[in-house]
Amino acid sequence: MAPAEEPTAATPPPPHFVIVPLVAQGHTIPMVDFARLLAERGARASIVTTPANGARLRGVADQAARAKLALEVIELPFPTGVDGLPPGIENLDQVTDNNHFAPLFDALWRLAGPLEAYLRALAARPSCIVSDWCNGWTAGVATSLGIPRLFFHGPSCFYSLCDLNSVDHGLPKQTAAAGDHEKFVVPGMPVHVEVTKATAPGFMNSPGWEALSAECVEAMRTADGAVVNTFLDLEDQFVACYEAALGKPVWTLGPLCLANKDDADAMAARGNKADAAQRSAVTAWLDAKDAGSVVYVSFGSLVRKPPKLLVEVGHGLEDSGRPFLWVVKEAEAVAPEVRGWLAALEARTAGRGLVVRGWVPQLAVLSHRAVGGFVTHCGWNSLLESVAHGVPVVTWPHFSDQFLNERLAVDVLGVGVPIGATAPVMIFDDENMPVEREDVARAVAALMGGGAEADERRRKAREYGEKAHRAMEKGGSSYENLTQLIESFRKRGGKQG
Ligand code: UDP
Repeated sequence: MAPAEEPTAATPPPPHFVIVPLVAQGHTIPMVDFARLLAERGARASIVTTPANGARLRGVADQAARAKLALEVIELPFPTGVDGLPPGIENLDQVTDNNHFAPLFDALWRLAGPLEAYLRALAARPSCIVSDWCNGWTAGVATSLGIPRLFFHGPSCFYSLCDLNSVDHGLPKQTAAAGDHEKFVVPGMPVHVEVTKATAPGFMNSPGWEALSAECVEAMRTADGAVVNTFLDLEDQFVACYEAALGKPVWTLGPLCLANKDDADAMAARGNKADAAQRSAVTAWLDAKDAGSVVYVSFGSLVRKPPKLLVEVGHGLEDSGRPFLWVVKEAEAVAPEVRGWLAALEARTAGRGLVVRGWVPQLAVLSHRAVGGFVTHCGWNSLLESVAHGVPVVTWPHFSDQFLNERLAVDVLGVGVPIGATAPVMIFDDENMPVEREDVARAVAALMGGGAEADERRRKAREYGEKAHRAMEKGGSSYENLTQLIESFRKRGGKQG
């Protein structure tokens, strides 16, 4: 780990990157990993967020300070008096009602003034702003101060290329009158990809979000380049096509989660704080299991399963006969009848199943030798983290980019067993029941069982895991891309304008 550079008359100050994540754990976590990597490689990184989100990053900031890394967390005051937004909600995972999303984005858009004030007050103009693609509001700030800007695109290049090609080829207009489940081929892809309006909501139909979405797309088009959490050996053909379609540099720097490799504290500081006693209990439980025997089940930071779907998952895991480690969110287990049902399940599967409430350090779990499979909602971070650790997956997409991530995992990479979800389940949706206990049991059995197909999935996952590690080591594609990125901004320097 390289300590921060001390500027002298002979050495210019290190390039300064201002990182602006979206306030959602699936977006913040990889950007924080990115910031740590920048600082470890001798650059200066300032993560800009709001107070409640800054509080979740204390562990990261403390760790960086102990390691004398030039990484800081900047808290901009959260806008007050936003119509329709209850006080205290500063992150997408705190939203309790669909009607809160639009006001939360409204509040974020009001951070432009405070960000500009912070940047103007700095002694030297930063080298670059790297902002989440959903933070389209940062584009105007960068332009008005003349600071280069990259956008951080959360999903794979496979997804981003599908998205860009669909919009560029007019797919949303062509399909405006089509039914939700009618199939369309994504134009201009190097492989055959079929989508429906239901499974590709990002670029086919997002009623009510057109203006914000257009602003974010425009901010991507006017940026100086893209930073993507992926690696060349995973999807080189899609990276090349995406870069060509975008017409600007695409820096593939991942899997960023491997920045935490071999560092238990860093893994634990990632995202929300896991209860320390629970963390030790999970490790002890995994330690007692055979290598590759446990299926890990978690649906990211946002998905909230309604009780009837939770029950289907539980029965499916019980019926699969396999050891399982299942993360249930606090918000999912509030009702006494759900708590009671979970307690009964735990009693029936004692010794074989562990149900954890809240948050587990996912990397610590996926890197444990006992874990042999992952039932995931296909959030890009979860999927990439699994691949990076050589763990094959059951794919159960819920919304957003997840259905296309599933296609990548199953059809292109060959590391996934689809559970069979064909329709989205939104965060507060308790009507749709696209998946039942038999689907869970069948998919888990296929994933964890023997046979040529299962062995081949495991082999491919292991191979991608090895390639992922190589990409992040000196000489690897992501490592060298990061070197180039830092050096290109070191050369540009920066004085306050
Ligand atoms: N995560 C975690 N512990 C949990 C739940 C999630 O560490 O109990 C992390 C996970 O490792 C990943 C992120 O939260 O980095 C979730 O991002 P993803 O893109 O998979 O899904 P999202 O939350 O955006 O739906």
